Amino acid sequence: MFSRSTQFLQRLTIINSPRNLSFKQLNHIKPTINRNLAWFSGQSRKETFGGKLRRRLKNFFIVTIVGLGTFYGYRSYRRYRWFNEMSDSDKTIGAKPRVIVLGTGWGAVPLLKHIDTQKYEVVCVSPRNYFLMTPLLPSVSVGTVETRTVIESIRSLIGPRVKFVEAHCVNVDPEAKIITCSSDGEQTVSRGDDVKAILVPSRRTDGASSRIIKDSARVRPEFHMKYDILVVAIGSENNTFNTPGVEEHAHFLKELLDARRIRSAISDAFESAMTPTQTLAERKRLLHFVIVGGGPTGVEFAAELADLVREDLQIYFPHLVASDVKITLIEALDHILSMMDKKISDYTERHFHRENIEVLMNTFVKEVKQREVIIQLKDSDELKSLPCSVVVWATGIKARPLTNKLREIIGLNIQSNRMGLLTDPYLRVKGVDDGSIFALGDCATIQMPKLIDRIHSLFEEVDTEHRGALDVQQFRTLVEKKITEFPQVFK
Ligand SMILES: Cc1cc2nc3c(=O)[nH]c(=O)nc-3n(C[C@H](O)[C@H](O)[C@H](O)COP(=O)(O)OP(=O)(O)OC[C@H]3O[C@@H](n4cnc5c(N)ncnc54)[C@H](O)[C@@H]3O)c2cc1C
Repeated sequence: MFSRSTQFLQRLTIINSPRNLSFKQLNHIKPTINRNLAWFSGQSRKETFGGKLRRRLKNFFIVTIVGLGTFYGYRSYRRYRWFNEMSDSDKTIGAKPRVIVLGTGWGAVPLLKHIDTQKYEVVCVSPRNYFLMTPLLPSVSVGTVETRTVIESIRSLIGPRVKFVEAHCVNVDPEAKIITCSSDGEQTVSRGDDVKAILVPSRRTDGASSRIIKDSARVRPEFHMKYDILVVAIGSENNTFNTPGVEEHAHFLKELLDARRIRSAISDAFESAMTPTQTLAERKRLLHFVIVGGGPTGVEFAAELADLVREDLQIYFPHLVASDVKITLIEALDHILSMMDKKISDYTERHFHRENIEVLMNTFVKEVKQREVIIQLKDSDELKSLPCSVVVWATGIKARPLTNKLREIIGLNIQSNRMGLLTDPYLRVKGVDDGSIFALGDCATIQMPKLIDRIHSLFEEVDTEHRGALDVQQFRTLVEKKITEFPQVFK
């Protein structure tokens, strides 16, 4: 008796007879046909283990290929769309309103992380392609914290849903709603903080195995970009109060490269002081560190430096630390940390005294030179020289040129605050009628309604019995009602 499959094979032989396929040949392929028939008729349980494994591997392979193909295809399509949109950026705006965010600092990043990209096309423009954890900069400058732990790539933070372009915004046209961006006059690339290092001409000093080169191949042209909404979060820059020599000879502590430069300057000072032929006066100058500015940044740096000297350098340079190292903090007011509670500044001053940090209060820096700082005491005409090798300038911040430019474009009669862009409580820049420009962070100042202008009407609002006085309950009601409108007073 023939089995069903053999009958089937016989039938196939008849069909295939014109091609001279013998019954013996067909018998040879019988297992394959059987397996396929079983698969079609749902009898796959008869499949051998090896066959099953092969089939599964084949299926897995097909799924993987199709999956990868779809993934890379979609990615290429997105890139294609990205570049298309960006090359048209000065002319057209797509289906979604375009939001341009300037900056990758504390103000911009939370917004970029939470903005709804289903509703908006979001583009971030900044000369810095990473987020910087500024409170840890003093620790980086003395080497307690490693550089890579205080930065996070902006692309990994915001993901591919937000477009990022590394460039400086140099102009804003609020009428046409266009920003102009450049990278340092098409000279070379700008990475915000390390542009000075890149601009140094190529040189190889004697004996150096490494050199700084000027790589002119990486040039980026100027471009324009249209926006529907612009968010300005460009921060601030160091305020030198036009003190001569600060730009040339003092270190700032604002960007990552500043911290790295300070770190290498400290190390350099100690190594130079170790040279056997160094005179005592020169050794003392080399190991004198001057910090200008008794605000949080200056105080934190002074404390970190004192810790470094006491805990680490003491081990390697015991003689120098005992006799020659000196840290001086200069403050123009009569207290350090003057914006904080008096108890905090008193405590810090006492602590610094114990740590051998000399604090010069009521003292102004008149000039910073390569080997000294010229100071003047309040109410005195006398100038004094402090020989030193490392000066850290931390006297506060001022508005960036772009912030001032935007203030001028809007009108200085409306934008009257020199510290930054005046905004309403919703962060809309004052004087931009269509509300298309927002500002936040160090470059902005919220103009809150003045309580004094409204005090009379507020009083009457809760004085329901017209007694001309408020009881405790009425006063509490007033505070609860107005706390969001006047947070600066009631909180
Ligand atoms: C050493 C140090 C310690 C600090 N510690 C504290 C602290 O403990 N607590 C605290 O509250 N604050 C602290 N601050 C202050 C805090 O860092 C700032 O208030 C905060 O960084 C302000 O955020 P921002 O987004 O406005 O500006 P930033 O964080 O400075 O970011 C500005 C961004 O704008 C970009 N940008 C600049 N120019 C342009 C341009 N033309 N076009 C486009 N993008 C531009 C910059 O590259 C940067 O990405 C500290 C600051 C320093 C320097």
